[in-house]
Amino acid sequence: MKKITIAIDGFSSCGKSTMAKDLAKEIGYIYVDTGAMYRSVTLYALRHNLFNADGSIREEELKAQMKNINISFQLNKTTGKPDTFLNGENVEKDIRSMEVSSHVSPIAALPFVRAALVAQQQRMGAGKGIVMDGRDIGTVVFPDAELKIFVTASAEVRAQRRYDELKAKGMEANFNDILKNVEERDYIDSHRATSPLHKAPDAIELDNSNLTIAQQQQWLYEQYRKVAE
Ligand code: C5P
Repeated sequence: MKKITIAIDGFSSCGKSTMAKDLAKEIGYIYVDTGAMYRSVTLYALRHNLFNADGSIREEELKAQMKNINISFQLNKTTGKPDTFLNGENVEKDIRSMEVSSHVSPIAALPFVRAALVAQQQRMGAGKGIVMDGRDIGTVVFPDAELKIFVTASAEVRAQRRYDELKAKGMEANFNDILKNVEERDYIDSHRATSPLHKAPDAIELDNSNLTIAQQQQWLYEQYRKVAE
């Protein structure tokens, strides 16, 4: 099998991470959740009071502090999946909170944040053998990726999945708030000036609204096999 780059993009909460993580494990590739990186910058900004009361961002201060934000991943031996670290602290749980979810899209729209994270993502994938998921992986980070997937599902299905996920982790969840957040993020992610979310012309589209996780995994593995063989 050839060692390739796999880019998985799509709307929020459409199961990209689950499919990307599972495929990476099965084929022995590195997995990178780029949403976790934007979420980590957001957590840092929240903790350092870089949001004004009206929700706007203190951009100049955040820009000056970008060099102090160090994001890395480490395999969690219990879950078999990577945990996200912000300046050495495991923030895997904190970055999934509703507070971070509701502040992340404006942070991810800032060009200097994107430039820093995209450069780090490109370094991580320089040796191929990587599955990366996000919004701009097939369009901006790895436009030459051998396999590009664009995942979609209805907003209601996605909100339900996020609700179930938060509940399963014992976290607070309200379905209507989550649905509103999913729709807001879709809008901001698709309309921002820098790297808006859109399907790369050579990406394969997958609507997984009516697929089980197992069916989706099998479909993805088939796509990988076709390209890597
Ligand atoms: O994938 P996830 O929903 O965790 O991503 C959180 C947010 O990070 C998205 O709503 C989007 O605003 C931003 N993001 C991005 N580009 C990426 C990955 C995530 O703008 N490659």
